[in-house]
Amino acid sequence: MVQSSRQQVDAIPKIVDARKLVQREQQLSGSVPAEALERLAAVVESVDDGVQVELSFGRDLNRHMVVEGRVRCDVQLLCQRCLKPMPESVDAGVHWGIVWSEEQGKSLSKDLDPVIQEGDELNLYQVLEDEILLNLPMVAYHEEECVPRDKFQFGDASMEEGEQRENPFKVLEQLKGSSGKS
Ligand SMILES: [Zn+2]
Repeated sequence: MVQSSRQQVDAIPKIVDARKLVQREQQLSGSVPAEALERLAAVVESVDDGVQVELSFGRDLNRHMVVEGRVRCDVQLLCQRCLKPMPESVDAGVHWGIVWSEEQGKSLSKDLDPVIQEGDELNLYQVLEDEILLNLPMVAYHEEECVPRDKFQFGDASMEEGEQRENPFKVLEQLKGSSGKS
């Protein structure tokens, strides 16, 4: 068999039994189809490619079931200055402790995020989607000056004071926007 040169990334399973994967010290590497993540779709303009996932199941020193790995995806967010799409990358570490109740979660070491499995089933897509949503910025602005500066500047000497008083929030927004990414 000759492998195609194009990298084909298979989807990881949606529903797993983490207990079994821990027993097998399973490694999962693959994608999550973007269309399966409805909550993500609701808050971004688009998801550029699939979501790339690497997970390895095992036990930590306290014998707790853990999943370590990362989840990555490229999305388009709406720039809050010009209201056009802007690219954003999410690259989040996964440090889960698998438990069956919130109570059990309290016994995990602090650097683990408790993930509750219901019976024999863990919805991996749902937990990964949570991870992506947590790592998305609340608001997005283009780094470059996407709206001409003169549309924003009210501090010009020729400006009436009254105009400035009218727009305190616009000025504030402008300050926030320009200092946000430096
Ligand atoms: Zn913009």
